[in-house]
Amino acid sequence: MRAAVFEGNGRLVLTERPEPKIVKATDVLLRVQGVGICGTDLHILQVPPAHPARLGIIQGHEFTGEVVEVGSGVREFSPGDQVLVDPHPGCGQCSYCRDGYPDQCSTLIASSGEPGHPGTIGIFSDGGFATHVRVPFYGLYKLRTRVPTHLAALAEPLACVLHSVGKLGVKPGDAVVVLGAGPIGCIFTAVLKAAGASRLIVSEPSAFRRERAQKCGATRVVDPTKEDLAKVVREETGDGADFVVEAVGPLLVTAMQLARFGGTVLQFGHDELVEPKVPMKDIIKKELTIRGGFIGRFSFSRVARILESGELPLEVVVTHRIPLADIHKGIELLRKQLALKVVVEP
Ligand SMILES: [Zn+2]
Ligand SMILES: [Zn+2]
Repeated sequence: MRAAVFEGNGRLVLTERPEPKIVKATDVLLRVQGVGICGTDLHILQVPPAHPARLGIIQGHEFTGEVVEVGSGVREFSPGDQVLVDPHPGCGQCSYCRDGYPDQCSTLIASSGEPGHPGTIGIFSDGGFATHVRVPFYGLYKLRTRVPTHLAALAEPLACVLHSVGKLGVKPGDAVVVLGAGPIGCIFTAVLKAAGASRLIVSEPSAFRRERAQKCGATRVVDPTKEDLAKVVREETGDGADFVVEAVGPLLVTAMQLARFGGTVLQFGHDELVEPKVPMKDIIKKELTIRGGFIGRFSFSRVARILESGELPLEVVVTHRIPLADIHKGIELLRKQLALKVVVEP
């Protein structure tokens, strides 16, 4: 089969690989229908890399597909099912999994070979930039009504966002600022709107992305290169934002400045090369809460229901649908910020 393989030093190579086969009783073989190119994929392909990955693996962790074959121990799925994939399913047995932190599963962390990193499918083992992929059944979620492939491919980023928004506890009437309107910033905007945020200010330099954020529910969009963002936030909120979502990477300090007294900052943007200098006095005197948001946890069942219902304006997040042969064009579009989510349909 055709597959896009990570060969190190920024190289993603289209090559031939044998089709995967069922090995364990818990395995499921999928035909990949849609797979998103993630900011993390770009980080992996940066030189030097801003995110680790295993050499020689097929990349692609945001995929959806159709079940082709199941192992002898799989009862919940059968050929023809359309499924969402949690690319970092826990083992269910280690102490982290049993304490409710499957994203920190010790077998996943160990299999990545990187301290603090889960062994995500498509980053540390073969993923979805291919026609077929093998996954354990306990990472799969069945869709009960047919969902368009390019929207189902948003399941993983949507699961991450739902998990983080759940931790924040946004209520109707809250004022929220989102920094960055890439695919994640736009998905945050849509979910925060659904959660009840009444003022939803999105800061983003790209006009194209600001327009998408507006369609996702932003009540005000700001170009931070032309407008004074802090002033806009004060005008719109009075005292500052109840919640600030940092969906870029290096803007933690800006996020802290925009939060009101007692406000909460969510650091979601992930760039491992960034080490911001944090003003301690702001945390103490403003009694800020700073939270980290990483991957999805216990949120895929809700993702399935959201996708089945069509209740979020996710159509505006997907700007390009391309065949696997064009994956490098898709990556270029993202690097030049001419796209939001690019979905590969192998
Ligand atoms: Zn991702
Ligand atoms: Zn575990």
